[in-house]
Amino acid sequence: MPEKILVTAALPYANGPLHIGHLAGAYIPADVYVRYQRLKGADVVFICGSDEHGVPITIRADREHATPQEIVDRYHSLMKESFRRMGVVFDNYSRTSLPLHHKISQEIFLSLNAKGWIREQEIRQYYCVSCRRFLPDRYIEGECPHCHRLGARGDQCEACGRWLEPEQLIAATCKICGSAPEFRLTKHWYFRLSEFQKQLEDWQASKLQWKNNVREFCAGWFQEGLTDRPITRDIDWGIPVPLPDAKGKVLYVWFDAPIGYISSSVEWAQNLGTPERWRDYWCSSDTRLIHFIGKDNIVFHAIVWPAVLMAHGEFILPDHIPANEFLNIEGEKLSTSRNWAVWVDEYLEVFPPDPLRYYLEANAPENKDADFAWKDFQTRNNSELADVLGNLVNRSLSFVEKQFDAKVPPAGEPSEADRAILRAAAEATERIGKLLEEFQVRRAVGELMDLARAGNKYFNDAAPWATIKTDRARCAATLYTTLQLEAALAVLMDPFLPFSAEKLWRMLNAPGSHLDQRWYEVPKLRLQEGRPLGQREILFHKIEDDIIETQIARLKSSQ
Ligand SMILES: [Zn+2]
Ligand SMILES: [Zn+2]
Repeated sequence: MPEKILVTAALPYANGPLHIGHLAGAYIPADVYVRYQRLKGADVVFICGSDEHGVPITIRADREHATPQEIVDRYHSLMKESFRRMGVVFDNYSRTSLPLHHKISQEIFLSLNAKGWIREQEIRQYYCVSCRRFLPDRYIEGECPHCHRLGARGDQCEACGRWLEPEQLIAATCKICGSAPEFRLTKHWYFRLSEFQKQLEDWQASKLQWKNNVREFCAGWFQEGLTDRPITRDIDWGIPVPLPDAKGKVLYVWFDAPIGYISSSVEWAQNLGTPERWRDYWCSSDTRLIHFIGKDNIVFHAIVWPAVLMAHGEFILPDHIPANEFLNIEGEKLSTSRNWAVWVDEYLEVFPPDPLRYYLEANAPENKDADFAWKDFQTRNNSELADVLGNLVNRSLSFVEKQFDAKVPPAGEPSEADRAILRAAAEATERIGKLLEEFQVRRAVGELMDLARAGNKYFNDAAPWATIKTDRARCAATLYTTLQLEAALAVLMDPFLPFSAEKLWRMLNAPGSHLDQRWYEVPKLRLQEGRPLGQREILFHKIEDDIIETQIARLKSSQ
């Protein structure tokens, strides 16, 4: 039986387009992992969707004189399209404004409530008299009590990064109208997170394979002691709290968003015509649940959400939560409000997807923050993708065209060097697989490029342009071997460079699809002698300086 793996990537928030920080943090690592598992033959389901509730969406809607639904419709479509064009292939991409998601979230809330895991509490909350509404944390601004910078939000100061409670702000004002709000009493529903501390700590103690950033972050929270958390809000955009005395209240977006993993899985099963199939994963202890996230989501995925799952009791807990650090842009912190970002849809207007995938993989913010720099992007594309991988393919295929009638040459008697390079491919297959099992994309893609480098060295040392004149059989064997190496590369490339992998497979005119190959059979892949090659194309185009200068100018001027 193939291994069952349920992979989720953090639901992107539908109040803006996708930027490359999102891709680097969660989506590319998740897609690389899923593509690898599919090639391995695992029973893997890859789930995502747009997170469409919460205050930032209502703020944006107010500012643009649009409805929240109009805002999320726009960005849901845009993000879905960006993922598709980047080759991030989900089994289902849903959205949390769907009635299905509302229903499932309300059921989970009611189940937790019935089991006594939710309690009511009256709290004092800011109320704006002129706007006639309670103000959620993000609707309040003021001076940070720690760093004294102005413009700190009710939930966090972006300047010093500290989490805040709204009442800690000095000289708080309403973000909508600017007037000073007053305190009023309001009732909220709290999830009894504090009750789960011991259970969470015991559970995490067994997760020795988790990354340090996740373990250390959680350890800090455990040390401070978990407190009950409000899971309702006084706004009108969201999922209504399904209780008679909760009129005008909705579920807090951080309560309903992770439930989106379940509702998206239910939608996936329904679309397949097997509506109960999601239970084979969510309710089956032989499934590994893996949440890919950025580090800003650790508390919700590693503490609050598992506690909700424990409280509910019918679903499996996450097996792994590979959280990435942040991606900076040209040495500065990425900021959507300052427009210091590279937007995926804008990138795709100019460049193909694979060079960006490669850059974000080779430079992944796995253990520390990484930097995206346009010049570095150009260098990676030109001197690695084009000069190493692309060059190997181009020089060998054009040689076969010229000297062997564009057909796979006869294998002949393999030399020690021929055997060694194919052995290197087999070893790289093994190593890349092992690294991907450990979520080490950066090192894995490095192994791929090293194999292409070894291929170039092999080709140079074999000097087919010389042997063609002296020993045609030897020359044929060199090209035969190089083509076999390239067939292996086409499959090994798929997790990282899916579009180029497909292109290379087509250029080699290898039978079927590269996606039908099995990872551990890659070393046995053989193109038949005499088989005609496909149409040769340039695998990776070099990027000229002026194109990069334009991108840098665009970034700097858009602030
Ligand atoms: Zn501050
Ligand atoms: Zn106001």
